[in-house]
Amino acid sequence: MVFDLTDEQKDIQKAAREFANKEFLHETARELEKKHEFPKELYKKAAQLGFVAPYVGEAYGGQGLSILENALIVEEFCRADSSIGLAVDLAALPCKFLYRFGSEDQKKKYLAKITSGEYGAAIALTEPDHGSDITELDTTAQLVDNHYILTGTKTFITNGTIADFYTVLCQTDPNADPKYKGMSILVVDRGMIGPNFEVNELGEKMGINLTSSAELVFNGLEVPLENLLGKEGKGFYQAMKFFEESKIEIAAQAVGVAQGAFDIAYKYSKERKQFGKPISSFQAMQHKFVDMLIKIENARNLVHKAAYEFDQGRQTHTLAAMAKLYAANIANEVTYEAVQVLGGYGYFKEYDVERYYRDARILSIYEGTAEVQKNVIAAHMFSKN
Ligand SMILES: Cc1cc2nc3c(=O)[nH]c(=O)nc-3n(C[C@H](O)[C@H](O)[C@H](O)COP(=O)(O)OP(=O)(O)OC[C@H]3O[C@@H](n4cnc5c(N)ncnc54)[C@H](O)[C@@H]3O)c2cc1C
Repeated sequence: MVFDLTDEQKDIQKAAREFANKEFLHETARELEKKHEFPKELYKKAAQLGFVAPYVGEAYGGQGLSILENALIVEEFCRADSSIGLAVDLAALPCKFLYRFGSEDQKKKYLAKITSGEYGAAIALTEPDHGSDITELDTTAQLVDNHYILTGTKTFITNGTIADFYTVLCQTDPNADPKYKGMSILVVDRGMIGPNFEVNELGEKMGINLTSSAELVFNGLEVPLENLLGKEGKGFYQAMKFFEESKIEIAAQAVGVAQGAFDIAYKYSKERKQFGKPISSFQAMQHKFVDMLIKIENARNLVHKAAYEFDQGRQTHTLAAMAKLYAANIANEVTYEAVQVLGGYGYFKEYDVERYYRDARILSIYEGTAEVQKNVIAAHMFSKN
């Protein structure tokens, strides 16, 4: 068993760290958060260096990196700054749908524009009445001649207002039993926004404020048949396969957010003096850091193992769920403790840990809540005699 990263992987990690430390500045994040603005220039810069969707094959403008290598980059980005790192990563995440299930024409049309940083994208699965349970949907698409008529509402869609395309899960066969066997994914282009496709920004939210969260309203929108992803009736399965991979990426985000908050708190603890000594000299403080360190180390190992298994072509639903559940939990715990280490200063925006704390909260909610991850793991455990 080898735990070491290869020299090439260490180089990728170092390059991502150096880039993010130089470019993903906390002051920039604070400014962008106030304006609720996506870090477009930084996304483009990251793309120019090959850091955006680097797992996409070279034929489509990517680097052909492994999922483990992608996880190393995502961790460094979210460590350098939680809000910028998460926004940059989330804008490219949906392209996995195209890369894994798209036709040659679809891959050519969309992927190079993602890896070059020209395009950002959004995933549209959630509906007002269907969140954790997407085995039934109210959004329908009826095939008429050579196009679908798409009707329904999607909500909480990350990057909704800035996306150049949307991967929309919908019911194409209303008579399917069970319903999920009649679902498909349609790729909807930004250019289709108009009277039959509205995008509305939702209200203010707790964290990840460099991303938009939007409602998409389809009102009989015509979507060409060529925008169907793969085959009709495969949409739910595509979404489940997507989650197997994306949960590893979300878990890597969580490790980065936790590590970044740890870094800020660690530095502060050595500088801040009380009772005539740095607060880092108090055993109660040291124990906090020990607990944080062990949690981060455990989460990172789970992420690397899940990514490694995925790269070997093995089924990783359970391991990915474990990594996502655990890493998200510890990101919440570590960022909470990081605020505590900074005391009153930690409560103020200028010190950034409160932003990491707020950003961490979503990690236990999107891409399947903590409870849903436990259901996935339990289902696997109890399906065996
Ligand atoms: C900021 C943000 C960004 C998001 N981005 C996207 C996006 O880009 N695309 C997209 O499609 N969706 C997105 N989502 C939606 C997200 O995936 C859902 O919010 C999530 O899946 C939960 O669905 P829900 O909010 O409807 O909660 P519900 O499903 O109503 O769940 C409410 C509570 O009940 C629990 N629960 C539900 N079912 C079970 C069960 N069987 N067992 C135990 N507990 C259960 C849940 O864990 C949760 O605690 C985003 C959400 C947010 C807040």
